[in-house]
Amino acid sequence: MTDSPLRILLMAAEMVPFAKTGGLADVTGALPKALKMQGHDVRVAMPRYGRIDRERFQVGEALASYPVPMDDHSEDAALLHAVVTSAGGDVPVYMIDNAHYYDRDGIYMYEDDADRFIFFCRATLEGIKRVGWQPDVIHCHDWHTAIVPNWLKTIYKDDPFYTNTACVYTIHNLAYQGVFGYRVLEIAGVDEFGFIAHPDTPALNDVVDFMGRGIYYADIINTVSETYANEILMPEFGEGLDPLLRDRRDRLYGVLNGIDTEINNPATDQFLVKRYDAGNLAGKVECKLDLQREAGLPQSRTIPLIGIISRLADQKGFDLIDQIIEPLLRNNDLQIVILGTGDQRYHERLTNMRARFPKQIAAFRTFNAQISQKIYAGSDMFLMPSRFEPSGLSQMIALRYGSIPIVRETGGLADTVRNFDPTTGEGNGFSFQLYDSMALYAAIIRALENYHYRNTWQQLMLRAMSADHSWATSARRYIELYRRAIATRTERPPRETYNKGE
Ligand code: ADP
Repeated sequence: MTDSPLRILLMAAEMVPFAKTGGLADVTGALPKALKMQGHDVRVAMPRYGRIDRERFQVGEALASYPVPMDDHSEDAALLHAVVTSAGGDVPVYMIDNAHYYDRDGIYMYEDDADRFIFFCRATLEGIKRVGWQPDVIHCHDWHTAIVPNWLKTIYKDDPFYTNTACVYTIHNLAYQGVFGYRVLEIAGVDEFGFIAHPDTPALNDVVDFMGRGIYYADIINTVSETYANEILMPEFGEGLDPLLRDRRDRLYGVLNGIDTEINNPATDQFLVKRYDAGNLAGKVECKLDLQREAGLPQSRTIPLIGIISRLADQKGFDLIDQIIEPLLRNNDLQIVILGTGDQRYHERLTNMRARFPKQIAAFRTFNAQISQKIYAGSDMFLMPSRFEPSGLSQMIALRYGSIPIVRETGGLADTVRNFDPTTGEGNGFSFQLYDSMALYAAIIRALENYHYRNTWQQLMLRAMSADHSWATSARRYIELYRRAIATRTERPPRETYNKGE
């Protein structure tokens, strides 16, 4: 039956509300709730990091201790259990517990990350088998879980529990591929199949590229916007994997992310000094004054305030911002508030700018959900000039809070922001094409000019706030992909061109 409910297991390294470093966690937090709303039996698996408060989230135990094959031995995992409540019902969340791998301060950037995520994946497959909950489809996200499609086509191929399980693999950011050495194949138990090397990607000949494996082995591959799905087929955006992606383009899709409209709602957001909606915008001005106070900037209702919430990385266009920030501040009456962490050189640059333009720019160099919501609400414009952007959530959240995005036309930014045309009155933001600092500067100036036409700006805000960026539509598209994966599951033996490691 084509409309029968599916059993769907999402596997990911992070998930809201338990652990978040970026958009991935927002997606894995919100998509299951939307799938649940549509009547499916969806569960999520993630590692139980040390920072997750077991009491606060009422984390219980599903399986006390069971062996997980790793390398030439086995190690013990416990399967923990929590729930995320949603309007459609509770979403069960399995957490893989192992003190050695996960009792650390952070989530990533450890030397043994390959081992940590292989263990997580293997413990999940072994754990749900013991629980006896058999998924129709496993939905894997990013390199941390890319070994799963590889296993389903190799060492689990003849396992009766998984013979009918299909796999969808979502690329959230092709730039983070998880590249390791041969030893990882032994740890994952797939060394007999060797490296996967494509004739057009010699760089893959002697490394283990988890992302590449996910792309090669999954039944369906998707990324998080239609534009990015097309972009990554080209060398400019393909990060070296475009030949592999072109081979599989008949199974490659783009599904735009949504945002969690319960968490990101200016009418109910508990972090705001005053709540507001499209019917009553008065609260937004209060939020602006509150933000200016908190940022140590002069309070003004009328000065245009540009917000930035971002990882401080080249991907996000900080090299462009860097080139124009001085003339921008010197020549224009505006304020900028930045929230972000990342590259040291950008931290230093911001400190320097703050010292020189204390009335115009303020930076919070931290990761903080409360400040982020205050910036979405308190800013008039939201700047996101990314070099590439698989989907981007921040611009959608900004729209919902009536902060008008200024973006580069790439990936999900191109799919969500339409350049404002004053002659027709159409559009919901300001965008530019060339990755070039003058093009960025011109887009900001256009936004500043239009800001002074109060009616125009009000129309822009209302249009932005009333657009639907919820997960409902995208969740339906994922269901289609899950069914397609189930219907088109095929064997995927390692190809002759693929090398055996020595
Ligand atoms: P990416 O996943 O590439 O970092 P996205 O735009 O897809 O970018 O998602 C970023 C998410 O992380 C948004 O929800 C944004 O509000 C949030 N975020 C980014 N930086 C911070 C920060 N310093 N503090 C709080 N939230 C942040």
